[in-house]
Amino acid sequence: MKNITYSSTRSASEPISASQAILKGLADDGGLFVPSEIPAFECSLKEMAEMDYKQVAYEVMKLYLTDFTEAELKNCIDNAYDAKFDTEEIAPLVQASGAYFLELFHGATIAFKDMALSILPHLMTTSAKKNNIKNDIVILTATSGDTGKAALAGFADVPGTKICVFYPKNGVSAIQEKQMVTQKGENTHVVGIHGNFDDAQTGVKNIFADKEMAAKLDKAGYQFSSANSINIGRLVPQIVYYVYAYTRLLKEECITDGELINVVVPTGNFGNILAAFYAKNMGLPIAKLICASNENKVLFDFFADGCYDRNREFILTSSPSMDILISSNLERLIYRLCGGDAKKNASFMESLKTEGKYTIDADMKAALSDFVGGYASEEDTFGIIKSIFEDNGYIIDTHTGVAAAVYDSYKKNTGDNTKTVIASTASPFKFTRSVMKAIDSKYENMEDFALVDELSKLGNVEVPNAIEEIRTAPVRHNTICDKTEMKKAVCDFLGV
Ligand SMILES: *Cc1c(COP(=O)(O)O)cnc(C)c1O
Repeated sequence: MKNITYSSTRSASEPISASQAILKGLADDGGLFVPSEIPAFECSLKEMAEMDYKQVAYEVMKLYLTDFTEAELKNCIDNAYDAKFDTEEIAPLVQASGAYFLELFHGATIAFKDMALSILPHLMTTSAKKNNIKNDIVILTATSGDTGKAALAGFADVPGTKICVFYPKNGVSAIQEKQMVTQKGENTHVVGIHGNFDDAQTGVKNIFADKEMAAKLDKAGYQFSSANSINIGRLVPQIVYYVYAYTRLLKEECITDGELINVVVPTGNFGNILAAFYAKNMGLPIAKLICASNENKVLFDFFADGCYDRNREFILTSSPSMDILISSNLERLIYRLCGGDAKKNASFMESLKTEGKYTIDADMKAALSDFVGGYASEEDTFGIIKSIFEDNGYIIDTHTGVAAAVYDSYKKNTGDNTKTVIASTASPFKFTRSVMKAIDSKYENMEDFALVDELSKLGNVEVPNAIEEIRTAPVRHNTICDKTEMKKAVCDFLGV
């Protein structure tokens, strides 16, 4: 097995190990860590078709986390993908309306963020041990709704860690907010900010870049790390389920060995689809990576004309976890399109910071042919949720709805009948109000939890534990601050 090291997308600095990259989250120069190369599979797809989720996870992750011992990595995997998931398959595939829905929402907080955030705390505490870190790790996270809860659930009461989550006060669903503010755990802190997700993310990035703050923390026995999707400890576990999905289709003889499939991913920060891109580059037979956006269609425009331009109105949609204008993980793709030229990538990122946009050159654009961009309006999204329900009795959430709507028009426009996996990123119970409204306007005036019960009846699915829990749970967090006061909120929480 080849040793994989990690370096920044913005400067040709000394490469570091996987465990060091997991601990740091973001590089000192503000860049993202990328592997020295994308490793190829060591096992055949046929062999992996005979493995369970944990075994596939090991086969994939060991290729990236090469400074972890077999025992260390297997221990992390065992602790992550256990009874916290409500199905032994961990990520089941459901066939409906001419596609395979890869359900990534069977973890503790019923969104796909659990796939990576149930293992990240274990990867991080293992990394701390390996690197003789004595400080407590403080996880600082900005969330558009789902990362926050999944990170809180993952890190709650994990010894040697604390976690502080910022969310846009008016930018998440009622259920998402309730899930976060009721979070238990002595080491958890949740703050709503007056601002949107990009403000929260920028605020967190600024705190990370603050050298004075880092020194103050070190004195008090703390150091920051990030649970955001920029952490390679998030990215690597996300590659696993694409490999798993392909090998299940192979096992069930839905495809032949080596047959190309398409993958559709409802996208915000570009983390989930980047993982699919890495999987493809490892050797997974994927034809098109279809990147689905909601009305915040920065990525659609980027794929169309090569210009990434965040200067536009920020739209609040019914798929809040995709209401994002700065897709952080896209930087890893840009870096690759630059042929690993960190300086060139850094100049694009500088231009994004100062002018809010950049344009890639023609060669780079040509290398984007693996991707297809699409977007869905609110109307398209509601329409497809309703029609999939009516045709199959299958109820999808609004984010998955965006992907399904984009796929529907892709198929109509291209006639491409390649077998397709749609990443289903949240349980419909997390976005009950919008989902029920899509199915019938008569639900509009019902109360949140009455709608939950109605959804359960209609879809013939049990109410997930994650929802049952918050029906009566007391609010434990009520801190609200301005987007300019985030640093102070962190200091208050840590008592520094
Ligand atoms: C986070 C999230 C997304 C977007 O994923 P990215 O990796 O940020 O592109 C889509 N759907 C749901 C439900 C999410 O929580």
